[in-house]
Amino acid sequence: MKVLSVDDSAIVRKIIRGAVEVLNYDFLEAGDGAEALEVLEKEWQETILILLDWNMPGMNGYECLVALKKHPEFQTIPVMMVTTESEKDNIVKAIQAGAAHYMTKPFTIEELIKKIMECLGIGE
Ligand SMILES: [Mg+2]
Repeated sequence: MKVLSVDDSAIVRKIIRGAVEVLNYDFLEAGDGAEALEVLEKEWQETILILLDWNMPGMNGYECLVALKKHPEFQTIPVMMVTTESEKDNIVKAIQAGAAHYMTKPFTIEELIKKIMECLGIGE
């Protein structure tokens, strides 16, 4: 079972990798939306959660979310949007477009672990 982090920041991806590995899932990463779609072409059957950054060059997180939710295979994978506090207004838009959860930056690794567990329906 794999968790995909889509984020243009290598530092954020590294933090997310830490949380994913604590939970014993395999980690996948993409630096932008186009790369995320490429990764999923191979990995979608194994992918149980996508953590999707809002602010990215090229396709932004919202555009990527819309593309995922239109895709016949990728649309069932739950998506957690990762946004900054200032982008909180966008969350409603993202939920309407099919995002299952959101997380605001900055976050600690403990908060992230807890949030991922929530997303996957794993008890405390
Ligand atoms: Mg970003």
